[in-house]
Amino acid sequence: MSWQSHAASPDYDVIIIGGGVAGLSCALILARSRVHTAVIDVPTTQGGYASGEIATHNFLTQDGASKVSILKKARDELKNYSSVGLLDLRVLKARKQLFSFSITCDDGREITSRYVVIATGNRFADEITKIPGFMDAFGYSIFTCPYCHAYEFTNRQLAVVHSGDTDLNMIKLLSRWTDNITYLANGHDWMDGIRAILREISPKNRIIDAPIAEFATENSVLKGIRCENGEFVPAEAAFLSSLKTAKEPLLVEIGVDFQEGSGLNRNVPKTDPVGRTNIERLLVIGDSRTSFSTLSGAAYEGILTGGYIVGDLVEEQFKSKVL
Ligand SMILES: Cc1cc2nc3c(=O)[nH]c(=O)nc-3n(C[C@H](O)[C@H](O)[C@H](O)COP(=O)(O)OP(=O)(O)OC[C@H]3O[C@@H](n4cnc5c(N)ncnc54)[C@H](O)[C@@H]3O)c2cc1C
Repeated sequence: MSWQSHAASPDYDVIIIGGGVAGLSCALILARSRVHTAVIDVPTTQGGYASGEIATHNFLTQDGASKVSILKKARDELKNYSSVGLLDLRVLKARKQLFSFSITCDDGREITSRYVVIATGNRFADEITKIPGFMDAFGYSIFTCPYCHAYEFTNRQLAVVHSGDTDLNMIKLLSRWTDNITYLANGHDWMDGIRAILREISPKNRIIDAPIAEFATENSVLKGIRCENGEFVPAEAAFLSSLKTAKEPLLVEIGVDFQEGSGLNRNVPKTDPVGRTNIERLLVIGDSRTSFSTLSGAAYEGILTGGYIVGDLVEEQFKSKVL
């Protein structure tokens, strides 16, 4: 007997929680496969990056476009498909029932589905985000991805702020764009090799050990970094090689297993490449799976997972027809 025949019909085949690039890309392939889908999304509010003014890069045909404009276009395109509903709500809870999932939204409604795709992005939980000025400049002139944002700061004065074991690699990478780099250890021990690499890039490069008091900004543009000892380090942009993220509460509450992981892969769930978790029919994509997928990667993950779900639905449909 099929799974479908056990259950009262759920409201949707698939609920996607999170309407960033990962969630909307997944919704597009499901829409085009005529799968009854809801995308539930509340716009993110973390940092200037959410405001939409910031140019993104490395997403083919969209170089320089803001994330907000990319998402608006994607949502408009999805409105052409009647099988997909876009709900502007926050999901408070996801529960697994015997044959379906029940999703509780912040307006009190409960919606059920056969599959759930979590695409809620990541949540920054790094102490450094609490230092005055950090979130103001984040995405404007504080970044984690040099491939996405260093080009605009070619030959400028840059800072690398301590994040851990990947700092040495960040300094080496940034030498593709500038030879003017100050490393701010922010009161932490730093890795052997950093001084030698900085000198190799340019003898004028420095290491500042003191803890950081403030990221000094004007209209969200970084002017420099003030240390607790009063020293002011001029910098036009700052890069961090990683930012700690927190576990997604919806995944924790429903019982998804997490990886041990380190660096960028800390606090991310255990999944296979299509995003399947230990909970049947609950999949995770995008930054909530990897912590930093990039726009292209998030789009790819959405398509891959959407395609997997369509295949699964088709198999189930024919299984129930074969005696
Ligand atoms: C500062 C910065 C600059 C970047 N620049 C680039 C760049 O130039 N190029 C590039 O390729 N990548 C860049 N990235 C990375 C890229 O933005 C992400 O990898 C990508 O957007 C991840 O997409 P996503 O769909 O997984 O998550 P997100 O885009 O974060 O979308 C998740 C959505 O889910 C919503 N949500 C969360 N919880 C709930 C809930 N409970 N209920 C309902 N909705 C919820 C969020 O509000 C959000 O709208 C940058 C990242 C940052 C932080």
